[in-house]
Amino acid sequence: MVEDSSVDAAPAHMIAPDEALLLVGERTSPRPIQRVRLEAACGLQLAQDVRTEHDFPSFARAMMDGYAVRVSDAGQTVRVVGEVPAGASSAEVVSEGVCLEIMTGAVCPEGTEAVVPKEVAHREGDLVTLPKNLELGRHIAPPGSECRAGSVVLKRGDTMTPLAVAVVASLGRQEVEVFPRPTAAVITTGAELVSVDSELAPGQIYDSNGPMLVALLDEFRIEDRTYRHVVDQREAILEALEEAAEKDIILLSGGVSAGNYDLVPDCLAEYGATVVFHKVRQKPGKPLLFATKGEQLLFGLPGNPLACHQCFHRYAAAAIRGIQGKTAEPLQSVGVLAGEVVPKSGRTHFVPALAAQEESHWVLSPLPSVSSADIFSTSQANCYIEVPPGKQPFVAGKSLRFTWIGGAPWAN
Ligand code: AMP
Ligand code: MG
Repeated sequence: MVEDSSVDAAPAHMIAPDEALLLVGERTSPRPIQRVRLEAACGLQLAQDVRTEHDFPSFARAMMDGYAVRVSDAGQTVRVVGEVPAGASSAEVVSEGVCLEIMTGAVCPEGTEAVVPKEVAHREGDLVTLPKNLELGRHIAPPGSECRAGSVVLKRGDTMTPLAVAVVASLGRQEVEVFPRPTAAVITTGAELVSVDSELAPGQIYDSNGPMLVALLDEFRIEDRTYRHVVDQREAILEALEEAAEKDIILLSGGVSAGNYDLVPDCLAEYGATVVFHKVRQKPGKPLLFATKGEQLLFGLPGNPLACHQCFHRYAAAAIRGIQGKTAEPLQSVGVLAGEVVPKSGRTHFVPALAAQEESHWVLSPLPSVSSADIFSTSQANCYIEVPPGKQPFVAGKSLRFTWIGGAPWAN
């Protein structure tokens, strides 16, 4: 789109995108720690160290299905005198010329020096011929070989990944202390907007930011959330703000630019919030406003859908991560441009793009949109390329920083 360069210029009072992100991070703090059941903990950060009370394994455990043997019986034919299934132990003793059949996970009987896998032993009736080389301790996990009693197996700040859930479960615990997810309210503003279940009157458009913001909160698994649409009237906006007073985060959409009906900044002041910044040297998303009231964080997201998405992705997401005790910084990588991108003078241009791996590097295919309102070519974007302000185009082959949308493929 051809833009008026005077609109593109960046007045001094606007702050840089990096500074804006820093200010959001500085005003974000984790909420009080909660004890949650294991099944609700996945994805959250631990607020405690997790220690083992016992050695793991707590007994000498067979690592293969096979035979519990003495190493001096290598190459010999020995008698199978019993069987040890997992979950059981045997009173029989392994001694020279005698072995027991054993299953993976079973307690190695007294006298066991090695476990010989079934595949390498030759069985005939009660007799089994063992391989010529037997190594002491082979296929046995000795007590304490995985971890010792009293050791820290998960640290405060670690993410409860599915493997971490398994670690806690293996200690026999049902609950862990975590930094909880924030609660959130979405308030869309705009007299021209109607919901998708209504008919459009001339001049009206469908509210797409509301469903998008709800979907974005869903991606963060924020279940405690509300969504309300209001017209551009002081009383309506204030009422919606008051209704959301208990939420950790309020996401307002629209009404933060310079129009006659852009009432959000005044309403936020009346609500008692303090504006931290208003307007950022970026495209899309120049009108972004960030305010706080006590610990509550309020984002005045621009109404234009792409701008709304970019601002959520870069700034509101940072707050959501920070509240959960994670790093607020978006996940960044460096990639190589597959096509030209044009910078803006005086503003960082965040260009939606598709990052794909090619051999050892990320290749970035920009998905050009006509304007901050145009989302039609961008729905499959998995990143925003960060194009520094300037005059000369960045040509294919040039390396630029980008941030992943919705987390990197390897880090959800
Ligand atoms: P505003 O920031 O309120 O001035 O809105 C800027 C542009 O974004 C206008 O064209 C609005 O119609 C449009 N817009 C605002 N809110 C929404 C929304 N919830 N869904 C789709 N478009 C919107
Ligand atoms: Mg509006």
